[in-house]
Amino acid sequence: MTFEAYQLPPEHEAIRAALREICLDKIAPNAAVTDETGEFPQASYDALCAGDFHAPHIPTEYGGAGADALATAIVIEEVARVCASSSLIPAVNKLGTTPLLLAGSPELRQRYLPPVARGEAMFSYCLSEPEAGSDAAAMRTRAVADGDGWLLDGAKRWITNAGVSEFYTVFAATEPGGGPRGISAFVVAKSDPGVSFGAPERKLGIKGSPTREVYFDGVRLPAGRLIGAPGEGFPLAMRTLDHTRVTIAAQAVGIAQGALDTALDYVTQRQQFGRAVAEFQGVQFMLADMGMKIAAARQLTYAAAARSERDEADLPFYGAAAKCFASDTAMAITTDAVQLLGGYGYTKDFPVERMMRDAKITQIYEGTNQVQRIVMARQLLKGVAA
Ligand SMILES: Cc1cc2nc3c(=O)[nH]c(=O)nc-3n(C[C@H](O)[C@H](O)[C@H](O)COP(=O)(O)OP(=O)(O)OC[C@H]3O[C@@H](n4cnc5c(N)ncnc54)[C@H](O)[C@@H]3O)c2cc1C
Repeated sequence: MTFEAYQLPPEHEAIRAALREICLDKIAPNAAVTDETGEFPQASYDALCAGDFHAPHIPTEYGGAGADALATAIVIEEVARVCASSSLIPAVNKLGTTPLLLAGSPELRQRYLPPVARGEAMFSYCLSEPEAGSDAAAMRTRAVADGDGWLLDGAKRWITNAGVSEFYTVFAATEPGGGPRGISAFVVAKSDPGVSFGAPERKLGIKGSPTREVYFDGVRLPAGRLIGAPGEGFPLAMRTLDHTRVTIAAQAVGIAQGALDTALDYVTQRQQFGRAVAEFQGVQFMLADMGMKIAAARQLTYAAAARSERDEADLPFYGAAAKCFASDTAMAITTDAVQLLGGYGYTKDFPVERMMRDAKITQIYEGTNQVQRIVMARQLLKGVAA
């Protein structure tokens, strides 16, 4: 009898192997240029589309690959291992479309998911605002009932892939003063009259992933664009994040693994005091700690992915724990990788300085790691976790 409890199924290993090949061949060679120019990595998008890995989570009934949450996490992990900016293509397509998958009407899903599955459109997620970040329910964007539809006004900030994406899930207050119970979710298209974008933010990392403000100026939305029922937007936004924090954890694991790959390669080549620096115990202990932390982060991420797939009651705890632990791990490991490359690690001649800059965002977006700790503590106190 075999014991397979902690073994990835062969199809998941096959996905990792397929991705590894695409990533080394088509994505890694452009990662430094993407970081340097700050341009959207179109070559990565095309390569991911060719393999059906650009939005792998979309169910087959909408023309997608139908990848489960674990397979989707592995896709994102492998892409992030070579280029964090490119890993935001599958990650943000999942973030933008998850509200539809959780609560969208059959008509909304049939209209908006197939173009994403075919690679003709990307989907972004608009929750944050200039004055409403961690306290997202304090949003000022408003949607007012107007005839048989809605009129949307306001501004969203920090929207990943804004301008490149065709479609947006937008959260807006529909009951002034209603707080979290007065927020609703809508699908908005880039082509809707009244939608416009700010200039790309000038960021520390993930430079190939455009981050922009999105403005809504009297945007008329037909009634059918509402996702779920009026007033159900905020719980939907939070439920979405429970699932997609797993993808950020996977991104962080990938960045950390990429940094360890580079460090291992370097320390075996680099000679000082007449031998490879890998022979020094001080270096070996750093490598051991890096490998140990990545293994722990990966296991927690995969356990959270399994809970996401089964939509289990303790997903909020596991999603937050995986995102928090893996992103703190990515920051520590990329910093150590720079250290192990010495002066060379501090230059653009090697990818670890980029990885260190890219790792930082995983501690901030989809809720800062302070917010993750709030989520975890609440779940523990409610008795729903660990
Ligand atoms: C590159 C990038 C891409 C992003 N992509 C998207 C996207 O696609 N869609 C989207 O909707 N948003 C996106 N965001 C927004 C991101 O989720 C927010 O930046 C994040 O939630 C934090 O909000 P804030 O920046 O307003 O910080 P604030 O909420 O102002 O927080 C400032 C500091 O105070 C701390 N803090 C706040 N409240 C508490 C508390 N109660 N207890 C303890 N500490 C607290 C925070 O942890 C942080 O350290 C993105 C952000 C960036 C930078």
